[in-house]
Amino acid sequence: MGCDVLCVDNFYSGTKDNVAHLLGNPCFELMRHDVTFPLYVEVDEIYNFACPASPVHYQWDPVQTTKTSVHGAINMLGLAKRVKAKILQASTSEVYGDPQVHPQRENYWGHVNPIGLRSCYDEGKRCAETLFFDYHRQHSLQIRVARIFNTYGPHMHPNDGRVVSNFIVQALGNKDITIYGDGSQTRSFQYVDDLIEGMVRLMENAVGFIGPVNLGNPVEFTIRQLAEKVLRLIPNSTSKLVFNDLPADDPIQRKPDISLAQEKLDWAPRVPLDEGLTRTIDYFRRKLGSV
Ligand code: UDP
Ligand code: UDP
Repeated sequence: MGCDVLCVDNFYSGTKDNVAHLLGNPCFELMRHDVTFPLYVEVDEIYNFACPASPVHYQWDPVQTTKTSVHGAINMLGLAKRVKAKILQASTSEVYGDPQVHPQRENYWGHVNPIGLRSCYDEGKRCAETLFFDYHRQHSLQIRVARIFNTYGPHMHPNDGRVVSNFIVQALGNKDITIYGDGSQTRSFQYVDDLIEGMVRLMENAVGFIGPVNLGNPVEFTIRQLAEKVLRLIPNSTSKLVFNDLPADDPIQRKPDISLAQEKLDWAPRVPLDEGLTRTIDYFRRKLGSV
């Protein structure tokens, strides 16, 4: 798009490897920084993606997780206010909690446990949405809020802990596939390129549509179906399915209603799960050196 890009990361759950190929590009700059501290730079647009999204990582230091979402949002909104930048927040389907409405539309207020193990993430992201809308109303900031549903793809960390990378890494290593619970809970998996397309359309839309808007793939699978799919795509794997305890507050079903994104952004995901999984499996094969 011809933009200069300043990438700000504290590498809590990411690695420099993922941007190594950009380091020699004169339009790209990398800065090690934690958004819970103020940041003084000059920019036109801000994509605020900060906060680990894998339950394993965000529950490791839950206080820091809330700080990242809340203090991080305040600092990025303060920055946007000073330099008059447009700012997009990566919100989440977790704002719907363990939903009692299915599929989830943007006008559903959610069903969130405020004191559980997931609350640091869910309530942090909900408070960030509040801050975005209050900076919009109070300070006329140009905001965008995307609610991201389960997303996967190349460049996930092998120890990310979320289900798609776990199952692929386990299958490639001939280790047990760890299904939590009986595997009947559902998720809808979006390939990363579809998400990026949706976020850029949201940021750039000319009619000033601010959201919140769901970005996700509405094709729903049970976790058991996902495990079986991964094994079908890695046919020489000797992995077996094993069933472990279901973590507390694990949502039973989740699927986005994307009619708002379709209407306002002319956006819908294009990459079906089989194709996205194949690309992700190829990535992990190369990364882990397995055949
Ligand atoms: N802030 C920042 N970069 C800036 C401007 C502000 O990191 O370029 C931070 C600053 O630390 C402040 C926060 O953003 O605490 C909120 O800024 P705002 O102007 O909304 O509030 P105030 O400074 O009046 O508390
Ligand atoms: N899950 C699983 N095995 C794993 C990791 C996750 O069965 O090794 C389940 C998890 O309990 C949840 C679903 O897969 O029901 C999606 O989990 P993930 O951590 O990817 O994201 P979530 O949508 O729960 O934030």
